[in-house]
Amino acid sequence: MVYQYIVGAVVASLLGFVLSYSFRSGKKITTRASMDQITRNGFVNKLDNSTCGPEIAGSTTDVIIVGAGVAGAALAYTLGKDGRRVHLIERDLTEPDRIVGELLQPGGYLKLVELGLEDCVNEIDAQNIYGYALFKDGRNTRLSYPLEKFSPDVAGRSFHNGRFIQRLREKATSLTNVSLEQGTVTALLEEKGTVKGVHYKTKTGQELTAHAPLTVVCDGCFSNLRRSLCKPMVDIPSCFVGLVLENCDLPYANHGHVILANPSPILFYPISGTEIRCLVDVPGQKVPSVANGEMSQYLKTVVAPQVPPELYNAFISAIDKGNIRSMPNRSMPAAPHPTPGALLMGDAFNMRHPLTGGGMTVALSDIAVLRDLLSPLRNLNDAYSLCNYLESFYTLRKVMLH
Ligand SMILES: Cc1cc2nc3c(=O)[nH]c(=O)nc-3n(C[C@H](O)[C@H](O)[C@H](O)COP(=O)(O)OP(=O)(O)OC[C@H]3O[C@@H](n4cnc5c(N)ncnc54)[C@H](O)[C@@H]3O)c2cc1C
Repeated sequence: MVYQYIVGAVVASLLGFVLSYSFRSGKKITTRASMDQITRNGFVNKLDNSTCGPEIAGSTTDVIIVGAGVAGAALAYTLGKDGRRVHLIERDLTEPDRIVGELLQPGGYLKLVELGLEDCVNEIDAQNIYGYALFKDGRNTRLSYPLEKFSPDVAGRSFHNGRFIQRLREKATSLTNVSLEQGTVTALLEEKGTVKGVHYKTKTGQELTAHAPLTVVCDGCFSNLRRSLCKPMVDIPSCFVGLVLENCDLPYANHGHVILANPSPILFYPISGTEIRCLVDVPGQKVPSVANGEMSQYLKTVVAPQVPPELYNAFISAIDKGNIRSMPNRSMPAAPHPTPGALLMGDAFNMRHPLTGGGMTVALSDIAVLRDLLSPLRNLNDAYSLCNYLESFYTLRKVMLH
């Protein structure tokens, strides 16, 4: 049963991009400003010294975006490019170091192209991915993405998640009408059932309020702000335990590898020219302790014997090196309470098991839907129209994803 689900997920990811491609809007894109330079860890923060919220061309803000992860940063660029004045608030501008969001499916890459963000997978040692290899009981087979009809650049991409996010943030701040500020949003500012902006704490500890006709909450899987905007029904069937393998080659170069192991799957994919990510699915919500050595023991005795021989030594070395990370695998259906003035996006809105490798693709697809939807509404201060547009977002996105 579990394996049917996994094979289904792999096949769905292989085919999903074909469907998403058929919905491409083909909208032409123009870039309007030169790139700001952002170092990996020392972000150039346009509003760092500000004490009174966004200063966007002496005028007010159209959209506040909470969180500059994959969804928030890509959305800021997209709406900024459409002429919106965007205030993007992110609690930590240093390069994230995480085991999530490392493999973008070809459908997600096509969305990047549609949004004008495809160069964000350049210069980060991203690897092209052309399909999956499935392993079970010592046998294996390869499933390729049906890419024949696409230009040569169209493929999946795998990378360090933090490097990709820094590129997206850099791209967003290349637009003069997008302001990126380091700050932690503490609450939504609500008046008579309408969201009018956010309360937030700046990097220096100042408590400020920012106003805009539209606030998009993209604060990720641990979202604190989604409670008033949806009914969060989060399921955690398992955790992923992450390792980085070095000095080895995958049996199938430039492919994701899914080992249908016992009791649950193991994934391998490249995240740079020299590193391979291994994610071990561990059922349940609690993983064996790393600190007392139970995790190493589990990985060496239960998991290692099921790892393809080509990767075995590197797998054991990675365990001995000790950099073992874990993340809960969450799923949460989209169940929004349509709220005037606010929208949820990314993992704050909905989540699926990471085995599908679809989270970033869904976020990018939703961004394209929102951009196209809002495009005719030039003045977001028209509260009545905005409210109607936002309600139709929830319907339209389903059409795109099914
Ligand atoms: C183990 C694992 C593996 C995964 N692998 C893949 C994969 O291979 N491919 C794929 O497509 N998807 C994958 N996913 C899913 C993918 O990571 C998410 O769908 C994607 O990262 C969602 O982007 P996001 O912008 O919503 O959240 P994030 O990228 O997490 O961004 C949220 C941002 O909000 C900021 N923030 C949070 N709270 C506040 C606040 N109060 N104020 C200001 N800022 C705030 C955070 O600092 C962060 O920068 C995986 C998930 C998991 C758990």
